[in-house]
Amino acid sequence: MALLDVNHLDVRFAMRRGDVQALRDVSFSLDKGERLGIVGESGAGKSIAAFSLLNLISKPGYIAGDSSMVFDGQELVGLSDRALRRIRGHRMSMIFQDPMMTLNPVLTIGDQMIECLKAHRRISTRDARKISLEKLQLAQIPAPEARLEQYPHELSGGMRQRVIIAIALLLDPDIIIADEPTTALDVTIQAEVMALLLELCEKHDVGLILITHDLGVVSQVTERMLVMYAGRVIEQGPTREIINNPLHPYTQGLIQALPQMATPGSRLNQILGSMPSLDNLPTGCAFHPRCPFATLEDGRPRPGCRDRVPGLSGTEARQVACHMVAENMPTPPGQADQLATAEESQ
Ligand code: SF4
Repeated sequence: MALLDVNHLDVRFAMRRGDVQALRDVSFSLDKGERLGIVGESGAGKSIAAFSLLNLISKPGYIAGDSSMVFDGQELVGLSDRALRRIRGHRMSMIFQDPMMTLNPVLTIGDQMIECLKAHRRISTRDARKISLEKLQLAQIPAPEARLEQYPHELSGGMRQRVIIAIALLLDPDIIIADEPTTALDVTIQAEVMALLLELCEKHDVGLILITHDLGVVSQVTERMLVMYAGRVIEQGPTREIINNPLHPYTQGLIQALPQMATPGSRLNQILGSMPSLDNLPTGCAFHPRCPFATLEDGRPRPGCRDRVPGLSGTEARQVACHMVAENMPTPPGQADQLATAEESQ
């Protein structure tokens, strides 16, 4: 059984003019020690998916419908705040893009780590300090004793993110959710911090959910990946397979847009257009206004693209939501009826 099993996750924001659906029918799982990447442009819904796991969606957002998130056999949807607090930070911890979002500027690093430990465990200040020191050492922070006495503003950006990694490991979590953990750092530091996170997760058998727009990072760090567009998962499978053979036109576009795919001296490739607003999605496939395959060679619209939302099809290991791909993809026995029902209900 997977350590984390997310099924049909549906997140909405109650606005005056009606609900805006930020996530639709998002399903994925994570095994112990596995590393999963969630990629997509800004507004695709990847951070909302991560925040939902820790119930960090603030009002007017809410988890709706038949959403289910089972962690280690326990359903998280509907869990009390108190029960969730025992999981949040303890068994699942989060690394945010900007370390200053997590660190308190008026407390020393040591005080923050000790406070966090004492909030979750019955432990003396002396033992909490000892554990904090060990975690700073694990995060390869030079002069860890001195760092415990420093304030966040006295550290460089890279050092602050290492402290955040140490704090994320403080309570020996099963899963770390990292939301664009290196975006705010200099390019030279990004690789170091990512390599550290990968090494620590591997060494301590910690699962990683990495949220990023950077396909390069996902390909180096994760074993499986989800590609999100307009609040839905549009492709998922083993990272290596997707990077080497992307099936969805949007994933193909993301890979073509990588700087290393451009011909030297020419402009970078790009996906024309932009992510649609969630409160005004195009009909049918949300990607159709940007998709080079939504129109057939003879100028006619491709059947389905403008009027039917494509459901995920394929095997359990590799799935794609695209009418064109589904036409050429054998559907495993038993899935055909499910797909037809799913498409009808959309
Ligand atoms: Fe393009 Fe149609 Fe596939 Fe959407 S369903 S990605 S519009 S080919």
